[in-house]
Amino acid sequence: MTDKQNIPELDAEEILDGILEWVNIESPSDDAAAVNRMADAVERDLLGIRADVERIPGRDGYGDILIARGEGAGRRPGILVLSHLDTVHPVGTLEGARPVARDGDVVYGPGIYDMKGGAYIAFHALRHLVRMGTSPSLPVTFVYVPEEEVGSHTSREHIERLALENKYVLVTEPARDGGKVVTSRKGAGDFEVVTRGRPAHAGARHQDGRNAIREMAHQVLRLEAMTDYAREITVSVGVVEGGTFPNVVPAECRALVDLRVPDAAAAEEMCRRIKGLTPVGPDTEVHVSGGMNRPGYRKDEGIAALYEHARALAAEIGFELEDTGSGGVSDGNFSAALGVPTLDGLGVDGQGAHTDYEQLYYSSLVPRTKLWVRLLTTLE
Ligand SMILES: [Zn+2]
Repeated sequence: MTDKQNIPELDAEEILDGILEWVNIESPSDDAAAVNRMADAVERDLLGIRADVERIPGRDGYGDILIARGEGAGRRPGILVLSHLDTVHPVGTLEGARPVARDGDVVYGPGIYDMKGGAYIAFHALRHLVRMGTSPSLPVTFVYVPEEEVGSHTSREHIERLALENKYVLVTEPARDGGKVVTSRKGAGDFEVVTRGRPAHAGARHQDGRNAIREMAHQVLRLEAMTDYAREITVSVGVVEGGTFPNVVPAECRALVDLRVPDAAAAEEMCRRIKGLTPVGPDTEVHVSGGMNRPGYRKDEGIAALYEHARALAAEIGFELEDTGSGGVSDGNFSAALGVPTLDGLGVDGQGAHTDYEQLYYSSLVPRTKLWVRLLTTLE
């Protein structure tokens, strides 16, 4: 065990400088070249602490995956630190909607909270240990994925493989209201619903038409009615598009649907119900594709023990760490659903993920980096 008295002072200005270097490299998920510029910077920083870095070339139009292994990683189970390099903000946000700015305790920037701040403080904690000549208590592996914000379709296999090689997974997603960590998350599914009718001249031959938008309207109401807050199930129709001209009875309409469920049983039930949609009007068709993307997980014994450990460390450092559940998903869904104890929301405190007021709280930088230092040196 390390002794808490042995933690030398961490410098908030130095931590913020490091975060801003990463924030200043814009990296939207759908721009592989931009995400790879971000990967270049992170790789350079990792090499700077003599980490063993593997870079897996991107595919399907996404950026590269970085895996950094500390001593002993891969040979015996240790700690996996999970981060994403991408953000939802397009290139140009820094010069337009959201420049980096500082106002008292608040520092604004695209992706500063979700999750460049968190990814950086975990890295900084490891760098701190290297500088001190101290080693983590278990082998540590860092993985940085390029497309978390759009579903992690190219990195999921690597996340799951690495999670199963390790004993614990720590996720650098942002802290929730008041600095809370995340110990349960809903599962999420995506569906595309297409309705088909029959086109006709809306004036001359209206009676021959079968309106696909009208059919979709029925389906939208059915889908939305599947929401059941008491059971923590939500079904939300987020996009609808259909039709061509006002004077044409539309032949086709398309909707995109978001499903959130608390567990696997609800996932199965809801996928069956959504895929089982049938037409309401005559001579119309309904086609549903899609399914679950990320599985949900609950706070099981392993997660509870990991959280209690972190809470005790936070108390020693001098702050109260609480936990919460989230309806949002992260790559922690993949590891936790495999039964690997996962603690999420260990990133910086702040607010405004995915908005143009995205911000971190400067005062959270040192305590939360200290928590990372302590987690990396005390987990057994
Ligand atoms: Zn995130």
